[in-house]
Amino acid sequence: MSSILITADMVLLPNRVMTRGAVLVAHGLISDIGDAESIKGGPDTRRIDGSGLILSAGLIDIQINGGFGHDFTHQAGAIWEVGARLPEFGVTGFVPTIVTSDMTAREHLRSVLAAGPPQGYRGATPLGAHFEGPFISPQASGAHDPAYLRVPSDADPDVARWSAETGVRMVTLAPELDGAIELINALTSRGVVVSAGHSAADRDQAAAAFEAGATYATHLFNAMPPLGHREPGLAGAALADPRVTVGLIADGLHVHPDVVRVAAHAAGRDRVSLVTDATAALGMEAGRYVLGGRDVILDRDSVRLGDDGRLAGSALTADEALRSFVSMTNWTATDALATMTSTPQRLLGLTDRGTLRVGLRADMSLFTPEMSVVATFIGGQPVHGPWR
Ligand code: ZN
Repeated sequence: MSSILITADMVLLPNRVMTRGAVLVAHGLISDIGDAESIKGGPDTRRIDGSGLILSAGLIDIQINGGFGHDFTHQAGAIWEVGARLPEFGVTGFVPTIVTSDMTAREHLRSVLAAGPPQGYRGATPLGAHFEGPFISPQASGAHDPAYLRVPSDADPDVARWSAETGVRMVTLAPELDGAIELINALTSRGVVVSAGHSAADRDQAAAAFEAGATYATHLFNAMPPLGHREPGLAGAALADPRVTVGLIADGLHVHPDVVRVAAHAAGRDRVSLVTDATAALGMEAGRYVLGGRDVILDRDSVRLGDDGRLAGSALTADEALRSFVSMTNWTATDALATMTSTPQRLLGLTDRGTLRVGLRADMSLFTPEMSVVATFIGGQPVHGPWR
């Protein structure tokens, strides 16, 4: 495989922005980073001129339920079909999310992940499964089917198999449920990132979860009690704890732009994680789709439960989420990009990708200063954009 040299006006490195920088890729890995004038490459090196553009690590979406008509909860095999299209939005890694459902849906996703991609796959990489439920609160189950809610227990044969090694990257649970703290201890000891969410937890119950090792709050403010000044609840406890990263759906519907701005200020650049929470409606026309067995309806800008009109995930793309977040917060492109690159990298404990550093996988995207995706590279290969 020949090498590729990409130059850009701004190259986003882990702790600084390099102007007129260059990244050299060999054998799918970043082999050198430096000044555009000083990195030369060899005679066979392919040169990509990103003048006027920003080169960043590729985006990582840690909460995505499906897309293009496919719901991962019922069609786990569709992760490859959906993953193949995610580079259009700058995404190079994702954590396919299964909502509260029968155990067979979770098992199916684990076996699809274990079997690996189809021959010749050139899409975004699934980074393990995110199980959102079944250990969530009946008072905050949102669009999840309450018929499948369960009480946390590590003795459960389903749960006993969950670990980083068996492909379970993240679990969202309600920390106030009996047995939840023990389960947080068990899962974190097996390398699973535990998140508090779909929960009625008060401040103390949430703080106990973070003390036990939960490090994330799933779609902050949604499916949890509001932040009150005398009872901060899960939302306030998450924002106040420097160990906790907060997920936000920045579509302007799930959370009011003022509250997104407040949360962004409170958490700061390295503790905000933008997610799409996209459903099968992603990339589709207005109409009726499925989320975890329930009918959802996409109109112009929202996805809602067919039954009662509650929000049920989104049809948001990752790059739209970034643009919308920037318009709400006035954060720089550099800081905004951290929410979908270095922050999920740190949260998930990824050591082989997620920022631009020599030796890491060359998963990268080129953006305009307005955060439109121009090109996406996976393992150094252009998979979206004019250089494909
Ligand atoms: Zn949810």
